[in-house]
Amino acid sequence: MTPPKCTICKAKKTYFPVQVVLPSYNLKLCREHFLEWLEGRVAHTIKKYRMFTCEDKILVAVSGGKDSLGLWFLLHRLGYEADGLYIDLGIPEYSAESREHAQTLANRLGRTLHVVDMREELAPIGEMRNWTRKPPCSVCGTVKRYYMNRIAREKGYTVLATGHNLDDETAVLWNNTLHWNMEYLAKQYPVLAAQGPFLKKVKPLCLVSEKESALYTIFNRISYVKPECPYSTHASSLENKRFLQQLEEARPGTKITFYTGFLKNLSPLLHEPLKSTGVSLALCKVCGEPTTTEICFLCQLKQKMGKI
Ligand SMILES: [Zn+2]
Ligand SMILES: [Zn+2]
Repeated sequence: MTPPKCTICKAKKTYFPVQVVLPSYNLKLCREHFLEWLEGRVAHTIKKYRMFTCEDKILVAVSGGKDSLGLWFLLHRLGYEADGLYIDLGIPEYSAESREHAQTLANRLGRTLHVVDMREELAPIGEMRNWTRKPPCSVCGTVKRYYMNRIAREKGYTVLATGHNLDDETAVLWNNTLHWNMEYLAKQYPVLAAQGPFLKKVKPLCLVSEKESALYTIFNRISYVKPECPYSTHASSLENKRFLQQLEEARPGTKITFYTGFLKNLSPLLHEPLKSTGVSLALCKVCGEPTTTEICFLCQLKQKMGKI
């Protein structure tokens, strides 16, 4: 039996082995054409949703995982000016390893990696957890959002990019739909416009599946941290991902249809009416960062821990 041929180059390079099979797009691609296809797809996503242009100064929030590092590399390949931001949460072993991967890529790209070390800022995340009733992933998310926005603004970046992929977005969409969480549904979009002190936030990998993202990173020989964060207890998010993956295997293309259908059909209906009734933002009385309460979560935590 002759091996399957790459959908794109079969005419000229019949000997080229297929390395990636993408049933949702009815494509079989060799390594070279997979990379080209994926980069073209992300370039198109960036333009379609007006994420940024070459004039923008982009800051990529890198965690040391495959998605954010792959995204940084890809933006660089597409010719965008992008630096990285790594927030070291001080998680034993895990943080040191992921930080190292982020630094290795920064050196390879010849770009700056800004690092915020939580042990110097306040305390390692493990210790912070003891001072609040919020679940660990929620503390981590709040801390990351706070510093991402602050550092990006202080250093003069115009856009913040995160590595959320199609699987992440679909799992969140599924969960918000199951609970008819209208406020979150209204906010779920690959671009969040700048609002006062909040920088524009974008998700250029929103149409790239987890598998495609992993292959892109591996094919480009980018080393990344493999295990999930040891503190993560995303039970429901993992369950949702597994469930959607089962649907995807039975009917290829389910995830992309579900997500893009939402963006096209439902999101425009939710966006405008809810936007105007959005939460009013104030500036934290202590640090001046945007917050919905008088004193931001981070400053409240600092006060509790006797650091200010
Ligand atoms: Zn090919
Ligand atoms: Zn504050």
